[in-house]
Amino acid sequence: MDKKELTKKIKSHLNVLCSEIGERRVGSKENRKATAYTKTVLSEQGWHIEETELAVMDWTTAGATLTCANQSFEVFSSHYSLGCSVKGILLAIDSVSKLEKADIKDKIVLLYGEIASQQIAPKNFPFWNPEEHQHLISLLEKGSPKALICATERNSATAGGVYPFPLFEDGDFNIPSVYTKDTEGEKLLACVGQQVSLVSKAERVQETAFNVIGRNSAQTKKRIAITAHIDTKINTPGAIDNGTGVAVLLALAELLKTETNPIELVVFNGEDYYSAPGQVKYVEQNLGKFGDIILNINIDGAGYKEGLSCFSPFNLPKNIDNALREIFDEIPEIVEGLPWYQGDHSLFLQNACPAIAVSSQWFIENMECQELTHTPKDNLSIVNYERVAECAIGAECAIGIAELIRKISQA
Ligand SMILES: [Zn+2]
Repeated sequence: MDKKELTKKIKSHLNVLCSEIGERRVGSKENRKATAYTKTVLSEQGWHIEETELAVMDWTTAGATLTCANQSFEVFSSHYSLGCSVKGILLAIDSVSKLEKADIKDKIVLLYGEIASQQIAPKNFPFWNPEEHQHLISLLEKGSPKALICATERNSATAGGVYPFPLFEDGDFNIPSVYTKDTEGEKLLACVGQQVSLVSKAERVQETAFNVIGRNSAQTKKRIAITAHIDTKINTPGAIDNGTGVAVLLALAELLKTETNPIELVVFNGEDYYSAPGQVKYVEQNLGKFGDIILNINIDGAGYKEGLSCFSPFNLPKNIDNALREIFDEIPEIVEGLPWYQGDHSLFLQNACPAIAVSSQWFIENMECQELTHTPKDNLSIVNYERVAECAIGAECAIGIAELIRKISQA
């Protein structure tokens, strides 16, 4: 298949995933539609399918309101939070040391300033959980307030391009919360000590989601695991994060269908979700067997319209590293990327597997200041389809991930 034809196929996969389906939050009908689509494409290309059901929680809200006397403030239900309808005295806290000393029982607490400056890791998020976040959560749980109002700035490093961002995005944290802009929080400070009334019409719903794994017929145990997450945050069609990754994976299903090396194509569900259920499941399924995975190639953030594609190597053995360097030499559109860890390759690294993370150079370099990921702006208008195709196939001839696999099998 040439690049032009592959680009056309990638475009059609992306159209299904990001336009026809759109937002694919874990537990939603759209998310299940998207995994079913990958299952169909993989089966059509002759891959053996393993589909793993995941018990997850979906979440919806019909909005939130906050009033103090006759004044109302703009607030949003924190994603995955419990809903509430409460009245209470407003208390404002801007640092952990103040929280440690405060009596917040039955209060409605405004968290603003420093204490609300970075998104708090979900309680049971398995791959990243700083101690200071756990400390903050435990102070709040012990303090037992009626509800939280979180006033946040922008923080692309921990929350993507969203402003304001939900300080808590955590279905395992049971203090109802809403979030608002830092500027709205400033105005709300005038109501400290007064009674405020907070309603959040949010609801948690038990649902299902799926991991989809395609395997070729090669029988040896040692394999290459190629991965891309299909889920999105709430309120984004997730084009670069990570429709393009899934499209590359589906393209590889066709390019690698006659490959004699054992390959596993993994459509992960949960990278952008508070408890990473698909990733946790995969780790469970492979416990004690990660030594069989000779390489993980994880695609996340590929195909941005500006700049080149980048392949970031992690702990590669010599033969794979050499194969990768040949790709860099042969194809100017693919360059070596900086190390970054906010993706599913991290779970392979934690289990001592070598990995290559495939992404867009512009994103890796602007991770902490871009305003696109996790927002409606992450749509097909920022995708360069040829860049996406190149990740799979290379530029003029067959180089890219498909060629890399061939080089590795020869080395
Ligand atoms: Zn992602």
